[in-house]
Amino acid sequence: MLNYHMNKLVEEILKKYKRIWALKYASGLLGWDIETYMPPKGANARGEVFAHLDLIQKQEILSLASFVEEAEKIENLDDLEKGIIRVLNREIRFYKKVPEEIIVKLNKVTSEGTIYWRIDRKKDEFNSFKPYLQRIIEINKIIAEKLGYEKHPYNALLDLYEEGLNVEDMNSIFNVITHKLPILLEKDLPSSHELEHLKYNEDEMKKVNEEVLKLLNMPFDRFRMDISTHPFTIGISVDDVRITTRYEGIDFKRSLYSTIHECGHAIYNLNIDKNLEGTPVGIGASSGIHESQSRFWENIIGRSKEFVELIYHILKNLRFEKNYTISDFYIYFNLVKPSLIRVDADELTYNFHIALRFEIEKRIINDEIEMDEIPSLWNELMEKYLKIRPKGYADGFLQDMHWSKGWFGYFPTYTLGNVIAGIIWKSFKNLKNKVQSGDLESIKEFLKDKIHKYGAIYAPKDLLKRSFNETYNAEYLVEYLFEKYNLI
Ligand code: MG
Repeated sequence: MLNYHMNKLVEEILKKYKRIWALKYASGLLGWDIETYMPPKGANARGEVFAHLDLIQKQEILSLASFVEEAEKIENLDDLEKGIIRVLNREIRFYKKVPEEIIVKLNKVTSEGTIYWRIDRKKDEFNSFKPYLQRIIEINKIIAEKLGYEKHPYNALLDLYEEGLNVEDMNSIFNVITHKLPILLEKDLPSSHELEHLKYNEDEMKKVNEEVLKLLNMPFDRFRMDISTHPFTIGISVDDVRITTRYEGIDFKRSLYSTIHECGHAIYNLNIDKNLEGTPVGIGASSGIHESQSRFWENIIGRSKEFVELIYHILKNLRFEKNYTISDFYIYFNLVKPSLIRVDADELTYNFHIALRFEIEKRIINDEIEMDEIPSLWNELMEKYLKIRPKGYADGFLQDMHWSKGWFGYFPTYTLGNVIAGIIWKSFKNLKNKVQSGDLESIKEFLKDKIHKYGAIYAPKDLLKRSFNETYNAEYLVEYLFEKYNLI
């Protein structure tokens, strides 16, 4: 399969892994279908199918355990072989350490909990969801104990979503961000523009998105875009990568930047070395690295003045009552306004939303606070970081579905993505010129060479060290933001 001589045992493992790959492929496509074209009543059977597929996958992965254990003892494995064993080991470790009944309980309590989270959020109360959140937190603590950790129980959960990430990493990132960025927030930056409130024609917006896809040179024989409420990207295979975007009819930047964000994810998937297809490392290195790609394209490239100039002729497809200049669009795309809702946050205030969630998750998993203290701590931190206070629960701690889904430890990867995007910004020379001249291909080549082609061969921290000689240094993100917002 791979065009060089591979260790016999690893080769054997890869042969067996094909079955798991096929299962993941099928699950991926079924998941995509749920979000896009499945008729609503299909959900019940689909849920059951998923439960079976997950179980089969678990069995298949555990059946590799003894082979992987054996392979670990081999000396002189090369990077690719080590990567394969490392990634498999992570999956095996999880299944071995966390008993099936805990996963079943978590699935049950989160699927029911999500229903009550929706109800509470709608009514702006914290009532029916309360016992579920309590259970979800308890189960997450149990999972942390089962997995084991050094220093802090939250480390076990962080590592589930981002290999090797720990509380100290995030503490030092947020230390930089929450101390340095408030200076920019004190500046008198543009916080509103009439374009925010204008309705757009959906067909015109579709044309804009299509033209942007062409500008980004997305390969239409290996890529497609559909519509969903919450935009996402899925890499079914190296040659079948799909994104979705959204059309809300108002405030068109939300549709535009969703599209560019997901293209960033897609470009990553499309550029993983083809030879890695069907192996455990034929995927992105981690959530944080993946998010760095989407943020790099969405914010650092997409919201730059040069990019706005580049797409100005495309934006003309949107017909409003009056004509807007490049400068209008640039300001509109880069408004800064502390807001209560994370998904609406701008580039500058976004990370404070994550800092807040990180503080709460860290403390609750470490038994420093009780669940009942979450709402008040939330409001307190919101006030501290962004000088605004939620009026109720719906625009406070009930706004995201992450906790009802049981995803404790996931939020930090969003900020990590921004931090890594900052590292890439720092290391790419002449970015402005490249964007200005429309030479986006050389940017893609750079990213491919530094990150994409390796798939998950290297753990995220190793990849950063190897390709950029960096750790999770948040200074570059801060430097980038200062450079940008000092000029606006
Ligand atoms: Mg993303």
